[in-house]
Amino acid sequence: MQHTLHLSVLDLDILHNHAETNLPLEAAALLFGQVIKSSVIVNRIELVHNEASSSTTSFMVNPEEQYRLLVQAEEQGEELVGIFHSHPAPPFPSSRDQQNMKLNPVVWLIASRESGNWVSKPFLLVDDQVNEVDLNLDR
Ligand SMILES: [Zn+2]
Repeated sequence: MQHTLHLSVLDLDILHNHAETNLPLEAAALLFGQVIKSSVIVNRIELVHNEASSSTTSFMVNPEEQYRLLVQAEEQGEELVGIFHSHPAPPFPSSRDQQNMKLNPVVWLIASRESGNWVSKPFLLVDDQVNEVDLNLDR
């Protein structure tokens, strides 16, 4: 089944600004909302700090920060539906990302400004294969 990520234009702008301000480091954010059949709906984004030691090519979310955000989401009836991060390289999951996608089987939204402007693409790991997901930008 082909999945669709629903995200507001405003939230995408906020994510791309976050990526821009974090240059040359990778920026990260957690996406919260609901999954209804093949629709992955983002209600809320949370920008997080990148704690990786070599964060120009990788990212790591502070476990305590992540835990706090997950508990907060659960209290609000939301779940973690996506993980955003930016790349110095093309917006495709690296081999390290693909390992992490197995551990966190949510949509992975990856931003790159290799082409000049920030562009984000969502991916999902299906049967250990990277699948690009449709992106639906809502007003
Ligand atoms: Zn990556």
